[in-house]
Amino acid sequence: MINRRHGFFQREKETRSKEKREAYLKERLSEILHQGYQHSKAIHSMFEKAGFMPDAVKELKDLEKLPITKKADLVNAQRENPPFGGFEIVSEVGVRRVYVSPGPVFEPGEWDYEDIRWAQALFAGGIRAGDVVINTFNYHVTPLAIMLDESLRMLEATVIPVGPGNISMQINLMRQLQVTGYLGTPSFLMSIVDAAEGMRLDPKTDLHLKAAFVGAEMFPESLRQRLEGRLEIFIRQAYGTVDVGCLGYECPEKNGMHISEDVIVEIVDTETGKQLEIGATGEIVATNFSKVFPMIRFATGDLSYLIKDPCPCGRTSMRLGKILGRTDQVTKVWGIFIHPWQVDEVMARFPEVLNYQIVVTRKEYRDQMTMYIELKEGITDQPGLKRRVEREMEEVLKVKGQVEFVQKGGIPDRAKKIDDRRIWE
Ligand SMILES: [Zn+2]
Repeated sequence: MINRRHGFFQREKETRSKEKREAYLKERLSEILHQGYQHSKAIHSMFEKAGFMPDAVKELKDLEKLPITKKADLVNAQRENPPFGGFEIVSEVGVRRVYVSPGPVFEPGEWDYEDIRWAQALFAGGIRAGDVVINTFNYHVTPLAIMLDESLRMLEATVIPVGPGNISMQINLMRQLQVTGYLGTPSFLMSIVDAAEGMRLDPKTDLHLKAAFVGAEMFPESLRQRLEGRLEIFIRQAYGTVDVGCLGYECPEKNGMHISEDVIVEIVDTETGKQLEIGATGEIVATNFSKVFPMIRFATGDLSYLIKDPCPCGRTSMRLGKILGRTDQVTKVWGIFIHPWQVDEVMARFPEVLNYQIVVTRKEYRDQMTMYIELKEGITDQPGLKRRVEREMEEVLKVKGQVEFVQKGGIPDRAKKIDDRRIWE
């Protein structure tokens, strides 16, 4: 039976020392690798191919000996070996649900949901026992809404399983049931606030919200400020994927996302799969301890970095910084990888700039990189600025490029940050 509050109010888990956390994770890792070797065909064959046994993975650093699994590997494995690709560990009670996520990837749902990671995230986001929460994530097909629903039960909060859609109904429910918590995407929350104002309501007083927990979308700071201002509430986000669950969550300090307790998160070089030093940007790779569908070194395709400074909230886990983009948005110029987040990093140094885009072309078998820039009104020193931007580009991107200025509106909305127009023939 599931113990409600199972492990959840164990604050000592979130505040233990680095050594204790490492020892705990090593133990859980060894457990899941042994179990996987015995009961999961995919994990068994991973070890067979690597030519060693789970005992060879002693330290967290030893994870590097194991291969990375990408989403495409999972999709292919499931095609060859349906429905779960041999990754599953199915117990005697069987599978309670089968989730389908984009790919498509089929995922078995455990009979008793005991994963405390989303509950920890909700708690850090201000949701408490006794809260009445609307869960506007989609309850169909994919697992997130149901996992959050189960997690609210662990917290002893009441859930209204509304799912997305029908905004005026949502607003009426929020008022009639005195809803104190919102779960959903930030953009849907914005739609609710807009619609409430359209109904001549004041979202601050006519709704009773205290906290909103958002995810599944990028959540820029500007949007948080607008929403927090219009609602006068606390809005926190978490990060995870359908394949590996919750990986990080914001605390009241909102200075990055604390890595969840029952998971191992690595930041790796996308090319080699080796772990990078703390602070360096790389791909988020996760190993979870799911009893039915364990993922070992699953590549999320998202880029971020680790922060190890202590957090004033008292949680001692390392934190993930911002999600900086996707690994597949990378472009190779002169043999050097350029990511959109690096371009943002360069341009953040120039407040004169309103909008920008890099275009990569190829002339006589040579790559050419041009940064198109739209300036804010009233900026006059173009030649000086051109030189400074070119210098910074070379320093950060390690590739030489040209700067060209465009007229107002010269860069289309939603333009790709790096537009690769090379034709290979
Ligand atoms: Zn914190």
